Amino acid sequence: VRLREDLAPPPEKTMSETKLSSPDRVVYPRDGIRKRDVADYYEAVARWLLPELIERPISLLRCPDGVGDSCFFQKHHADSLGEGVHAVALEESKGPADYVYVKDLRGVLALVQMNTLEFHPWGAKIDDVDRPDRLVFDLDPAEDVPWTELKRAAREVRDRLQDVGLDSWPRLSGGKGLHVVVPIRRGPDWTEAKAFCEAFAQAMATQSPLRYLATASKAKRAGRIFIDWLRNARGATSVASWSLRARAGAPVAVPLRWEDLARVAAPAAFDIASAQRRAARLRCDPWAGFAQSKQRLPSL
Ligand code: ATP
Ligand code: MN
Ligand code: MN
Repeated sequence: VRLREDLAPPPEKTMSETKLSSPDRVVYPRDGIRKRDVADYYEAVARWLLPELIERPISLLRCPDGVGDSCFFQKHHADSLGEGVHAVALEESKGPADYVYVKDLRGVLALVQMNTLEFHPWGAKIDDVDRPDRLVFDLDPAEDVPWTELKRAAREVRDRLQDVGLDSWPRLSGGKGLHVVVPIRRGPDWTEAKAFCEAFAQAMATQSPLRYLATASKAKRAGRIFIDWLRNARGATSVASWSLRARAGAPVAVPLRWEDLARVAAPAAFDIASAQRRAARLRCDPWAGFAQSKQRLPSL
């Protein structure tokens, strides 16, 4: 298996060169994980994280008071985010607004300094934000759906994508679900991409109405898996592979090979420590072929 060619170079800056305020402040109270542990984690997994994150608008989940109710999402840039954190002006309904993006580890660590725990990139790059290069099927199970059933659903999404000529790659969300991610050659705009994803999810729900649904209604979800296609819209995000989650236990969103899925016990199977070990041990990219893929979105 070949390593992907677009991997970022090794970090030039190390934590010792970046000023981290309150490094010993505990940010995961239940787990005793400090701000410095978060920074060290992101530095350790940078080789794998950066290709997922750089040159894309990102939403940040910031937790200045640690993991808890006061965490908030931020998508707009502010100078206070620090050096190495960049702004890209994007059109919103009310006019242009500056969105956040980073180019390197320095930017990631500046955001960690600003108490970012989670990174949520767009499925498009800053040089062409209106044309996605990846789609995400976000599988959201009702409470009572067994993990084996969720894995089965992910494989069914994979097989049905394969039927229309699309390869896909799985990711543990680090929360309750799984993401099936599809790289596409840039071309279709968000409206076209979203229409494809909606039709795809709708077809699965129509064929297996007892297992799947394609509408967000929590009330109707009992026993079923919501195939969340709404991640595929302009301005929507999905958690980055290798991002920590701001939840008890410090779980991580982890990219897998399809073959790995059988052995994984839960969507939050990896935490800050085991994900870091996994990153260090990886000989080749679990998403080998993803970045090189040139597959086209089929017409509906
Ligand atoms: P889980 O497996 O528990 O569903 P998830 O990351 O898939 O974890 P979802 O609630 O399904 O979480 O949301 C999917 C994605 O939508 C998130 O990863 C995030 O990028 C985005 N998102 C969800 N809620 C918000 C929010 N309040 N503000 C901004 N983005 C959000
Ligand atoms: Mn989800
Ligand atoms: Mn969702």
